[in-house]
Amino acid sequence: MDFTIEKIDASGKARAGVITTSRGPVKTPVFMPVATRAAVRALAMRDIEELGFEMILSNTYHLYIRPGTEILASAGGLHAFMNYRRPILTDSGGYQVFSLSDLCRVRDEGVEFRSHLDGSSHFFSPEKVLDIQKVIGSDIMMVLDECTEYPAGRDRVEKAVRRTVDWATASYNYWRRGFDAGTQGLFAIIQGGVHPELRMECADALTGMDFSGFAIGGLSVGETRAEYRDVTEYTAGLLPHGKPRYMMGVGSPMEILHAVGCGIDMFDCVMPTRIARNGTLFTSRGRVNIKSSAYARDDGPLDPDCGCHVCRSYTKSYLRHIFRAGEISSLIYNTYHNLYFMKGLMDEIRRSIYNDKFPDIYKKWNNHYGGTGN
Ligand SMILES: [Zn+2]
Repeated sequence: MDFTIEKIDASGKARAGVITTSRGPVKTPVFMPVATRAAVRALAMRDIEELGFEMILSNTYHLYIRPGTEILASAGGLHAFMNYRRPILTDSGGYQVFSLSDLCRVRDEGVEFRSHLDGSSHFFSPEKVLDIQKVIGSDIMMVLDECTEYPAGRDRVEKAVRRTVDWATASYNYWRRGFDAGTQGLFAIIQGGVHPELRMECADALTGMDFSGFAIGGLSVGETRAEYRDVTEYTAGLLPHGKPRYMMGVGSPMEILHAVGCGIDMFDCVMPTRIARNGTLFTSRGRVNIKSSAYARDDGPLDPDCGCHVCRSYTKSYLRHIFRAGEISSLIYNTYHNLYFMKGLMDEIRRSIYNDKFPDIYKKWNNHYGGTGN
């Protein structure tokens, strides 16, 4: 894979570019819908392609636990298994091992854990998660890293940074020896909690290796919004100019806009689809809670400025009704609309960078979403 920066906004650091993969181009800044377990909840893969998304995220831990590498291998990889032709990025599973699995024990060689499904024992080493991602056929693979909880003491974060660097080094060497870097890129992950000096130590060590890109991990785990934004800005500044920069697990409109302003190129988050299933919808004028009784007789569209088929076909009154009635189509329509919104937001951000208007659209969205923090 390859990355080209096409334009930097005149006001600062926001950049528009293209990641070229063997399965097609990915225009940045990009938002990746999340297909954790080989499906984007409530939507067909055809919807994701129609919506225009150029890359999605799936998860190594979940796919390894179920359906397992044997079934994925016999299907010919994840693209064939779920009939999706465009690029896929896979998370290494580190975060899930630390947050989901039982009895997780970290050693220098890797991490031992029990499946959250059936309690069976497993071991992930830096090399093994790359082997799994090879079977998956990920276009961009992530290294195994050690995530820390929040709050965590400085000593604990420092240890996790050292381990993250050791594992990234092992991953890098294994990737260089046994993978085609052109078809399967590898990103390193900068950890360090909310400690700037540890973020720097981690970034210094990792950017010395020729990874395909660099991610910022360990954020959005409970720190304050001010801490989050400070660490984002600081860490983005430590990353090489010519490589894609990926903010893991962040996807609210204002946090994407803030991070793009810091020079971040890639995002993923379950939030837009999760809140959709709970009846919270993004619109051009802010969030709408479709459950509200205020919409019981509202014959207007959800968002008059949205061109999606849901906004063109149904009233707020109807969308409220099917949500309250527990109809499956409510999950489908709400998810479709929120992802259509996210794609439109990313397209607008990209256009604004080309036109040197990024600060204007930041201000515009901040008027609608700034107050909520999202
Ligand atoms: Zn819509």
